Amino acid sequence: MPKLKPAVRLTGIRPEILFAVIAAERAYNRAGHELVVTSCVDGKHVRGSLHYQGSAIDLRTRDVPADVMESIVAEIREALGADFDVILEGDHLHLEYHAK
Ligand SMILES: [Zn+2]
Repeated sequence: MPKLKPAVRLTGIRPEILFAVIAAERAYNRAGHELVVTSCVDGKHVRGSLHYQGSAIDLRTRDVPADVMESIVAEIREALGADFDVILEGDHLHLEYHAK
């Protein structure tokens, strides 16, 4: 079961992002880690960020060793394909839906 950090707001989330969370949770769980959503439409993001349109979500990475995180990212990218960007930021994993 994916967990939400308190105060995370999902209002207006796109279904595509929900799909991305399902794929991401499978990858986290397979590696023995739980998935925690740290931000969706809430929080502070760059101006014009897809977060504000419900088209991006951030996932916690601090509990996952870096090498394991890399294989999780590869697995998520493979599952989601080209219309999603899966970006490992400094302290979180950013997923966004951006149809090409
Ligand atoms: Zn983000």
